[in-house]
Amino acid sequence: MEAVLLDLSGVLYVGERPLPGAREALERLRAGGLPLRFLTNTSRSTRAAVAARLARMGLEVPEAEIFTAPRAALARIRARGLRPMLLVHPGLVPEFEGVATEPADAVFLGDAGEAFTYAALNRAFRLLMEGAPLLAVGRNRYFREPDGLSLDAGPFVAALEYAAGVEAEIVGKPAPAFFHAACADLGVPPARCLMIGDDVEADVAGAVSAGLQGLLVRTGKYRPGDEARLPPGALVADDLAQAVARALALARVP
Ligand SMILES: [Mg+2]
Repeated sequence: MEAVLLDLSGVLYVGERPLPGAREALERLRAGGLPLRFLTNTSRSTRAAVAARLARMGLEVPEAEIFTAPRAALARIRARGLRPMLLVHPGLVPEFEGVATEPADAVFLGDAGEAFTYAALNRAFRLLMEGAPLLAVGRNRYFREPDGLSLDAGPFVAALEYAAGVEAEIVGKPAPAFFHAACADLGVPPARCLMIGDDVEADVAGAVSAGLQGLLVRTGKYRPGDEARLPPGALVADDLAQAVARALALARVP
């Protein structure tokens, strides 16, 4: 094991607060000399805002180390010259500055929060019925907020797929291309990378099917019984501190 990929929400923080011991664990991981990348399907803010939020919580993560699903979507939209209807959170809109959106010939769906109105979903549905492709950050069912679990983008992806009889193109986790882009950026083969996350499907099962190693932390959205859905060979740790200890042991860092 030569490199570590980390999920953000539910691993390093919940809401605006770092998880207990997360800051120290991240510092220990960096001191171990392992190269890191951070992979998130979070789509309520730009990558710059994600980095700024981490910094406010005392978590030093350079923007260049952060891979977000919306940035992966942006790359695909540009490569294919699409004009997407942006069914996204208002905080994410600046990430798509300069991208033509009219007349829309595609739909890009992020975790839009309150922007998931009937009118917006219905407009997206009508575009899909006309043959527009549906790009989505992920199929994440829910995430942990300070006051409880909240609906993520996945349920809305499923609703549109069901209504229009289409299948979404997932750009973030668990798409293998998303994991592979981070491994390629590190110059480390996927089999030598460990992915740490609190989402048993998107983070851990996704990483393992992409050829990486996977580790589930029992923080964030973790719920007792998630272990039963882990792929063979995946690891489990109580929190990031324990996950980092496992990672350093696997990398044989003293
Ligand atoms: Mg998470």
